[in-house]
Formats: sequence, structure tokens, C-alpha cells
Amino acid sequence: MMNYPLTLAQILEHAHRIHGDKQVTTLLPDGTLHRYNYTTLYERVKRLANAITQFGIQCGDRVATYASNTYQHLELYYAIPCIGAVLHPLNIRLSTEQLAQIVHEAEDKLIFVDSEFREPFRALQNKTACKQAIYFDPTSMDDDVPYERVLSEATPIPTWDIQDENWAMGLCYTSGTQGEPRGVLYTHRSMFLHTLAANQADVFGLTEADVVLPIVPMFHAMAWGLPYASMFAGADMVLPGTKPLCIAKLIAETGVTVAAGVPTVWAQVYSELYKRRKDIPRLRRLIVGGEAMPLSLIEAYEKELGVEICHAWGMTEMSPTGTFSKLRGAHRGLSDAEKWRIKAKQGRPIPGVELRLAAETSNGFTELPWDGETVGELQVRSPWTANRYYKVEPTAEHFTTDKWLRTGDMATIDADGYMQIVDRAKALIRSGGESISSVALEAVLLKHPCVHEVAVVGIPDEKWGERPFAAVVLAEQTNENISDILRQQLASEFPKFWIPDQFVFVDEIPKTSVGKSDKRAILRMFGPTTSG
Ligand code: AMP
Repeated sequence: MMNYPLTLAQILEHAHRIHGDKQVTTLLPDGTLHRYNYTTLYERVKRLANAITQFGIQCGDRVATYASNTYQHLELYYAIPCIGAVLHPLNIRLSTEQLAQIVHEAEDKLIFVDSEFREPFRALQNKTACKQAIYFDPTSMDDDVPYERVLSEATPIPTWDIQDENWAMGLCYTSGTQGEPRGVLYTHRSMFLHTLAANQADVFGLTEADVVLPIVPMFHAMAWGLPYASMFAGADMVLPGTKPLCIAKLIAETGVTVAAGVPTVWAQVYSELYKRRKDIPRLRRLIVGGEAMPLSLIEAYEKELGVEICHAWGMTEMSPTGTFSKLRGAHRGLSDAEKWRIKAKQGRPIPGVELRLAAETSNGFTELPWDGETVGELQVRSPWTANRYYKVEPTAEHFTTDKWLRTGDMATIDADGYMQIVDRAKALIRSGGESISSVALEAVLLKHPCVHEVAVVGIPDEKWGERPFAAVVLAEQTNENISDILRQQLASEFPKFWIPDQFVFVDEIPKTSVGKSDKRAILRMFGPTTSG
């Protein structure tokens, strides 16, 4: 057989040649829609690719984006990797300090900036060595380099030059459990294979007739691979720009058939979609992941709106898709309630992904049964799962000696292969689909002289999934408003959504048998069921 390279250039070329008339629609900040087709996108990508090389970018160099979901960002999703450079989307929700650390580690050489984020970007730029920036907005300031001018002055790149499918194509950072960001480097091969797997009928199941709306940000785990999966399938794409909450109107106006985002978004837009239910007859499926989709929300969407909910689980480390929850043929006769219960599980491994449940023993791990009850640590391997973090040697905390990824999620798997997350062993809180490191928050709180001991836990929250909550033992009593002081201390290092909603002051933090903070006991004491 031919040794045919699996690269993103093949996806781009296929989309252009076979689906050139398919549309990319972007919601602009002024509420109007920008539209063009894949042929135009292709021609712009070819010029953009050449322009990027003229900024001195070479194979393997990291090129960052600081942007929302727009057509320019989509162009960069292809232009950067297709010249052999590495696309590095920055998570705009992180604090300037966190991003400066990430840009420093990644050694980004050039950054493309959504002009909507000019101000926060300037603050970041002041703290990084990367001074080359290109702005999307045509009405840029005098000293800005405008994207459209760069594009119009460039000639199309004659050919793509990716010599090895194992070249890196993308870099996404995830929150490390200790609060330190960790980079995951994807290759052309891994992303190509992830795209093929994601496009299977029992996974995303995208077709040429679909209109796909990724609400998941393009900086979050490569927008779950949708920019590649949609264009390979030849589906139209709709990009929500910086206004992801005007979704219901956008879905109605553009005839979206499949949309993807975290449960918090779907909870927020439900009532608006319900009001417009007559205008969204084409919406057939929501792909939901990043955190658990509540059963009640699954029921509301399926019963009241007739939209199929597909619950997915994955990680930045897995490109990101690992499991997908669709019903089996054998489930046809079940009642709706039974079907929703199955759909609330995180689903079965997609083809290419292997899962196992493991318990730690004195000399390694032992595998646990798939009986739907036994809880174990979820471990995975696949052609699109990382075997290390960027610039960090693999450690036993994250990878087993037989080279499986330790996900830090605690789960059950039933006899049919449906996995359900029941807990998290890692010290991360998930809020609105983003991770918050409790360890990092605790470390900064402990720096305050008034704080003797602290434990930060994730408290279940209807809107956000979880919210951080801090139990604090004070070193000394004080008359000051200590909650506000601690909030200010955290605000200087972390983004707003990381700051605990509540501080409680306790005499002692409950401990486990090995002397660690007993976060479950704290949850029992202060979680929603006891506090009402
Ligand atoms: P990230 O790398 O930011 O995408 O975070 C990955 C983590 O998010 C996983 O290890 C899980 O803890 C959590 N997660 C992702 N999808 C789901 C889901 N459907 N249900 C529950 N937790 C999820």
C-alpha cells in the first residue's frame, strides 16, 4: 500500500476540491453575518500561509492565536500547520499571568489577535517576549499590523511542505493539577486519525448536509476537532465569534443542524431555544462535553425540543474525544426515562480508543471489572492520546509504566462499555467546562499571614456544574473583612471565574486517614444538600 501521509493539508485540499461551495458563516461583533465559501477560505489560507513564512516563521515554530471562533481563526487552523508550524490557541479566559507563563514556555514567535481582545492582549504582550502581533480588525490602530493587509500583500503558497505526518501541528494547554499549565502537542497524524474517528456515524456523525456550530471555543482542545471534522465532511460551518450567547437566533437564522458546547451553555440558552422552537426545525443534534450533562437537561432538550443529545467525554490530552454516548440498537424498546439514564453516562469508547478501569496496588495497577458498579481510575490509550506533556518528562502521576494515560477521572464501565464518571481523583474543579486548580488556589491563599490552613473544593452548581468553595482556618481572629482580602489576593493571579464564591471560616479542616484534607467531608458539610 502507499505510504500516504496523514496531514491536515489533505483535509484542506479535499474540502476545497470536493466541497468548494460550502459556506463558512461568522457572527460579527456588530451582529451581522460574514459569509464566504470553502473556495474563498482556501485561497485566503494559501496567501496567509505564505505571509506567515514572511514573518520568519519556520517549521516547528509556535504561532499563537488570541481569538474567538471566527473565519480568520479557522483560516489559521489550516495555514499555520500546513506550513509545518505549530498552531497554539491561547485560552483567553486565563489570567494575564497564567498566559504569560504559557507564551513563555511555548516560545511563541507570532500571535494573531482578535481585535475585540486588543486591550487584554496588550496587557499580556507587555509581559511576554513575543512582540510580533497581527490584528484581525481592518480598522486597526496605527501601530497594529492588520490581518487583511498582510493577506492582500501575500501571494499564494505554491505547495504544502509537510514532510512527515508525525510533525507537530498544534499545541493546547490544559490546567495541570498543581495549577501549572501543561502543554499537549498534537501531530498531523494524530489529528487526522482523530478526525476520521470523530466523523464516524456513531460518533459526531457529520455529513455534507450538516451545518455545524462549534460553540466550544477554538482555544479549548482544538474546538473538539470540529474545524477539521466539519470541513472533511464538507459540512457548512457557523462560527459564533465573541457572542456565543446569541446562539438561539444564530441557529435559527443559519439553519444549524449540529452544535457543540459545554452543558452550562446549553442550560443558559435552553429557554431562548424553547421560545424559538418553531424556527429551529433543522437542529438535530447537540454534542455536549467538558463536564457532565445533567439528566434533567438531556430530558428537556430531547422531550421538549426534539433535539438529540450526544454526551461526550474527553480531555485536551486526547485531542480530545474519548467516549461518545449514543444508544445501541438493542435500546430501541426502552422507555424514554431509561434511554435518558443511559445518555447521561459519558458513553462508549469511540473506535480507536481503549479504556480500562484500574486500581492502584503495591506493585502497579490491577484491572477492574466492567460491571457498571465497580469504581476505578479511568486509563486510556489511542493514536490521538498524548504520551507526555510538552517539555516535561512523563511521570508516574500521569502515565503508567505500560504507557496508558491516567485520566484522573474515577469511573464505572458497564458490560455494554458505557463509561460513567463518578468522581475526580485529580485536584481540579470544572466550572462552565473549564478547569480550576484547587491546589493553585490553596497555595496562594496560604501565602496570606491570616490563613493557617485552607481547602478548596468544587461545590455542585446548577448553572456552572461546579463552583470553587474555600474552607479556611484562620491563624488569628481579625476584624477586617477577610473574605474580601482573600478574594483580592486571588484576583491578582487568577481569572475571575477561579475566585471562590464563598469562604467559610472553620476551626479545623476534616482529614482523611492519611492526613489529607477530606474534601468529601467538606462537601457533605457545606454542599447544597446540607446548606439548603
Ligand atoms: P479538558 O482537558 O479541559 O477538556 O478537561 C478534561 C476533563 O474534563 C476530564 O478529565 C473530565 O474530568 C472532564 N470532562 C470532560 N468531559 C466530561 C463529561 N462529559 N462529563 C464529566 N466530566 C467531563
